Amino acid sequence: MAEASEEVYSSLHQRFRGELLRPGDSGYEDARIIWNGMVARTPGLIARCTDVNDVQNAVRAASASGILTAIRCGGHSLAGFSTCDGGLVIDLTRMRQVTVDPTKRRATIAGGCLLGSIDSATQKAGLVFPAGVVSHTGASGLILGGGTGWLTRRLGLSCDNVEGFTVVTADSSVVRANSKENPDLFWALRGGGGNFGVVTEFEVKLHPLTSVVLAEGLTSESGIRGLLESWRDFMADAPIDLKWNIDLRLAPQTRKVPIELRGRPVASSSLIWTGDPEVGPPYLQHALSMCSPDSVSSKIVSFLNLQTMADSDFPHGRRYYTKSGYFTYLDDSSIDRLMEAVSTIPSSETQIELAYLGGAAARIGAHETAFGDRSSPFILNLLANWSEPSADASNVAWIRGTFNKLRPAMKPGVYVNFMSGDEQDRVPEAYHERWDRIVSVKSHYDPNNFFRLNQNIPPRRVGARNS
Ligand SMILES: Cc1cc2nc3c(=O)[nH]c(=O)nc-3n(C[C@H](O)[C@H](O)[C@H](O)COP(=O)(O)OP(=O)(O)OC[C@H]3O[C@@H](n4cnc5c(N)ncnc54)[C@H](O)[C@@H]3O)c2cc1C
Repeated sequence: MAEASEEVYSSLHQRFRGELLRPGDSGYEDARIIWNGMVARTPGLIARCTDVNDVQNAVRAASASGILTAIRCGGHSLAGFSTCDGGLVIDLTRMRQVTVDPTKRRATIAGGCLLGSIDSATQKAGLVFPAGVVSHTGASGLILGGGTGWLTRRLGLSCDNVEGFTVVTADSSVVRANSKENPDLFWALRGGGGNFGVVTEFEVKLHPLTSVVLAEGLTSESGIRGLLESWRDFMADAPIDLKWNIDLRLAPQTRKVPIELRGRPVASSSLIWTGDPEVGPPYLQHALSMCSPDSVSSKIVSFLNLQTMADSDFPHGRRYYTKSGYFTYLDDSSIDRLMEAVSTIPSSETQIELAYLGGAAARIGAHETAFGDRSSPFILNLLANWSEPSADASNVAWIRGTFNKLRPAMKPGVYVNFMSGDEQDRVPEAYHERWDRIVSVKSHYDPNNFFRLNQNIPPRRVGARNS
């Protein structure tokens, strides 16, 4: 591998406009680190690209040498796919340009953008791009996997709001994908993750929005069952302007939390209302009536505040492990399992995240995008979050055990961005009835599986060779 990275370095260094970092170089150690502290790897070369030509040169050199290659935007892959040992990282963190056309309500987003860079640029024009809930997350990985967030019910998934991609494919050519040009690739890039090439630019739709009503509250352990039953039934007919997320967790030891709840199992409800602020209160009140009165708040917040309020809950460098799935209906026995799980949570930062999709996301047909079936509105994400390596085994075991108990009631399927690095066997499940089609697109654009550090869709030729 060391030879391969030297070969790539030699081939690139004369013509590469960005930065090439090898172990020992100044800046290498910082560039090596990704968000999940569980994944500490040492690439042989990090190629920090400045433009599409750099990306093409890096892909060409890497492909010729056969080196293992990771693609990095925000470095937030929970699975740790944006790094590798000994191989090459094609790092897009210098490519963060966002260009907004306020009149057409469109933007172009470069392949290395963080969500925060998009929000800052689009909010100057009073517009939003629907994406995730933490501003230091990379946009590329999030959009390519699907992209859920506060605005999913109102405006759809992130990938539903992409009208075109510019991609450097495995043969290093620059390809455009939209509804007219390479429509199969366009379909696959909306949910298929990083399997098809390096996306250097997204063309996206924007929507007017500058503030929302935000309501929050905590429900004590004895009230969680009733809250979950009510949430399940209420959301089925709720307006698309309402997003109500529930996290089951141990209440933080902070002054904002009523003293009797601190450190205790709670359900933490966070709701936003994106419509007319005069219309939202009864809906918000329904949820808040099941929360401890001295834990409740409701206020209008700017969109930029909303998008950054969870940033410090998920700091870089902590240790994270996740498993996820969908429910068509959250039945009573699944609620029992969730009650058991919250009473055994092993870390104060670990969360059982529950979100209800539906709305605009559910209006897109199962075959319109590779993301696929949106008919199971309940998304569960078990996210363990801890700091000590000595606690790795207990945290991972807790996630696996909890997941195994809940899995029988889940609908087959999984959101690829909420998967860990040890779930390759679930990738066909993520695309189930779309599997043949997505394998065909992969086989066409990446027949040798150059882009394989991802929730991987093996091309047919590689599959045949390996069998
Ligand atoms: C703190 C945190 C909050 C999150 N919140 C949300 C959320 O609200 N909603 C949601 O849907 N998801 C969320 N996620 C999950 C997130 O969508 C994935 O972790 C996603 O992979 C992050 O993208 P990234 O660009 O930072 O990833 P990276 O680690 O940089 O890349 C991950 C993978 O994406 C692919 N990739 C990245 N850039 C490109 C590119 N330009 N071209 C081609 N492939 C590329 C590659 O396969 C790469 O291995 C969150 C994750 C974290 C850590």
